[in-house]
Amino acid sequence: MADRHGEGPYVDTPLYLRPRADPPLASLLEDQTFLHALVDALGSPLNVLLPEAVAGNAARFRAVYRRHHLAGRVYFAHKANRSSALVRRLAAEDVAAVGVDVASLEELRHALSCGFTGSRIMATGPKDAEFLWLAARVGATVNLDSPGELEQLAGLVRRHGPGRVDVLVRLSGFESAAGHGGAGTRMLSRRSRFGTPLREAQTLLSALHQHADVVELTGVAYHLDTTGVEEKARALEQCVLFMDDCRARGLAPRAVDIGGGFGVGYLAEAGEWERWTTALSEAVLGGRPPLTWRGHGYGLRNEGGTVRGTAALYPAHRPTAGPGYLDELLSLPAPVLGRPTATLLLEHLHDLHIEPGRSLVDQCGLSLARVLDVRPADPESGQYLVRLGMNAGDMSLEEHGVLVDPVLLSRGEPEKGDREPVGVFLTGNLCLEADLITRRLVHLPRLPRVGDLLAFVNTAGYAMDFHAHRAQRQPLARTVAVERRGESWQWCLDEDYWPITPPGGTPA
Ligand SMILES: *Cc1c(COP(=O)(O)O)cnc(C)c1O
Repeated sequence: MADRHGEGPYVDTPLYLRPRADPPLASLLEDQTFLHALVDALGSPLNVLLPEAVAGNAARFRAVYRRHHLAGRVYFAHKANRSSALVRRLAAEDVAAVGVDVASLEELRHALSCGFTGSRIMATGPKDAEFLWLAARVGATVNLDSPGELEQLAGLVRRHGPGRVDVLVRLSGFESAAGHGGAGTRMLSRRSRFGTPLREAQTLLSALHQHADVVELTGVAYHLDTTGVEEKARALEQCVLFMDDCRARGLAPRAVDIGGGFGVGYLAEAGEWERWTTALSEAVLGGRPPLTWRGHGYGLRNEGGTVRGTAALYPAHRPTAGPGYLDELLSLPAPVLGRPTATLLLEHLHDLHIEPGRSLVDQCGLSLARVLDVRPADPESGQYLVRLGMNAGDMSLEEHGVLVDPVLLSRGEPEKGDREPVGVFLTGNLCLEADLITRRLVHLPRLPRVGDLLAFVNTAGYAMDFHAHRAQRQPLARTVAVERRGESWQWCLDEDYWPITPPGGTPA
């Protein structure tokens, strides 16, 4: 489409970034009457969760375990979402297959209250004395972040009991030989604030030995903040080799915990993602009008006609993510030993633990916001400012670099003249210039009207409650759990959800 607005900056084909919505989320989005009724009753913003979908994701991860003949647990990384419904629904899964990874005292208390017994809980992240005490008391596995934490835990257990605590050691700083036979330059994996660098692990082994009366090493762990599957295969192999060292020293770890980071594909179409990112570079170079509020470059800049910097963006379209990514990692040859990483685990009879957060809650929720105001951004541009009944803390996909369009849910029939695609900036309900729900121009199939809803899809991972706050005493979003029962959707408040089917009833 050519310039529709004569003199003004041109509006060409809309640069959509349309979300991927699988069933049952896709059919929930089609029930606009139900979603409008929910927001009418409970206010804007509103978070909607689908507990059955998280169970479906756990089953898909388990299928990958079966394909590779592996044992071990899927631990949900609780930090991705505060909800009770999701944690309770996972607690109802097979106890040997599904656990929960908690990263704070309150997450641990919450997991226990949702039905997880201590033996299904993994305590990760840096911990304080109270968190360590409760984890030890309830028989959780402590994923040790540092040698200091080991000393602290050993001291606590000596003073207070209750007996030996299962521990994993989290490692970091994995090395790899870039040349053949180790002759080339040595590359260090991405630096991390967490875990014990592999080169300091021998000291850690001595300490574990010394504290063997109060802690039992049951496994070795890592969590790498990268999408690079090769880097993860390298780390997995080095964990297996390190476990051989452990055995030589009389310790008997049995599990490799490879953390999370399996990723989510947010966008339906690769082409839209490629088109948008190409257009961003063109805009940064001045070859087309800005795609963003005040020319924000998402980390890219123009240096003498060349694009520099790296875009701080999540790879929103991913050909493989979640269970598929785990499958790929397990099939990849280990760089030194040459056999697939799954084969290495099998040969050693090691269990595999994973800690998916984002990917386990893929397609498990959406965030709804009411349109409060619509006004032209500036007269020439043909663009609009659309103010929502939510702020950037309530829906923080943007904060995490995830770019994806909301779905417009009209209230009633759209008016006739209203069917042209339009570019809008989505602004929040705070009296703050920076309160933008998106810093990019979002293309919608038509101009929203006051009273319409925007549905942000796939916000259960880190986006719906991770950054929520009470600035200006704006309302915090309520969260509801919904379930399909026959032809209609049933809902309850998140805190009232329990995975119980009525007597004689069939599971949803
Ligand atoms: C955050 C975190 C996870 C989950 O990561 P995702 O990218 O959400 O899968 C798992 N393990 C640890 C230790 C973490 O810090």
